[in-house]
Amino acid sequence: MAKEDFYKLLGVDKNASDAEIKKSYRRMAMKYHPDRNKDNSEQAEKKFKQIKEAYEVLSDPKKRSAYDQFGHAGVDQSMGGGHGFGGAESFSDIFGDVFGDIFGGAGGRQRSNVQRGSDLRYNLELTLEEAVGGAEATVKVPVLVACDECGGSGAQKGSSPVTCSTCHGQGQVRMQQGFFSVQQTCPTCRGAGKIIKDPCRKCYGQGRVQETKTLSVKVPAGVDTGDRIRLAGEGEAGVNGGPAGDLYVQVQVKDHPIFTRDGANLYCEVPISFPTACLGGELQVPTLDGKVKLKIPAETQTGKLFRLRGKGVKQVRGGAVGDLLCRVQIETPVKLTKEQKELVEKLRDTLSGGGKKHSPQEHSWTDGVKSFFDKLTG
Ligand SMILES: [Zn+2]
Ligand SMILES: [Zn+2]
Repeated sequence: MAKEDFYKLLGVDKNASDAEIKKSYRRMAMKYHPDRNKDNSEQAEKKFKQIKEAYEVLSDPKKRSAYDQFGHAGVDQSMGGGHGFGGAESFSDIFGDVFGDIFGGAGGRQRSNVQRGSDLRYNLELTLEEAVGGAEATVKVPVLVACDECGGSGAQKGSSPVTCSTCHGQGQVRMQQGFFSVQQTCPTCRGAGKIIKDPCRKCYGQGRVQETKTLSVKVPAGVDTGDRIRLAGEGEAGVNGGPAGDLYVQVQVKDHPIFTRDGANLYCEVPISFPTACLGGELQVPTLDGKVKLKIPAETQTGKLFRLRGKGVKQVRGGAVGDLLCRVQIETPVKLTKEQKELVEKLRDTLSGGGKKHSPQEHSWTDGVKSFFDKLTG
């Protein structure tokens, strides 16, 4: 069904000011108010809703400019569910709004008892490998679901809720006081619009029961602690036919014995032997997908970072791949034999002997004293 032009609906031209639009909207809303169109109320109601929708768009500068640029396509999405006129939003709801606006708060906005279910949060713990590579996780969530005995109606099987005779199912009663219309939540059904005479024995008329739902969640590769995965409609069941809430799966990545993660990059400590640090060499370092070779140049100091490009994490957004940064730690040899000790002593004597000038190697040899003092003096 093609939608009517919003400017036409409100009877204004494209350059109309905000004040003109508001004035025209009030005039039109009064004209098509179903109470004043008793003979043709269905038509009037339809027109009334169209006018309201047009006004909601044209009175919002952002929506109006989107509408001017793209027509109905520009605003339909941004309108979202909250402004629609689906079954969940009763007609009296819309009236509450308009009357609040036109008559300066008489009645105000009253909500009917149709409620969306609550959103739920579930904390999902993943290993680093699962977070980086993606996973299929099974979650068990205690949740209020629609009662299967009564199908969510709250009425015992074989019976059904009856329309409230006070408000005729509107959930609201409107009292006419001269020209003013005041509305209140119906005192008989408390806004539900229906009355349950014979409540369901399983849910005691609530229409919802507590249940543990088992869900399978696809975790995309690259997620990190704090990321949320939204499962639409898997939250709590709604009340009185309202839509269900959403389930948010909150990711928590467990500590890894080897790697720490910072965004797309991974870090690890790699122990190297003293001779390898002195003379250089090659060693195997772990990555998340197997071992790779790392070349250690001669005279490598402890704490030096080596970057293995592309061995980090592929980001869940954007797909950029990070690096693996290996920090080398030089291991001091222990449990030396007599012969080894003599060799080390010889090395020491060569490095510091004969009053030769001090070389950087000497200092690193003396337990990194120099780099320590370097740090202190900046
Ligand atoms: Zn039930
Ligand atoms: Zn009622």
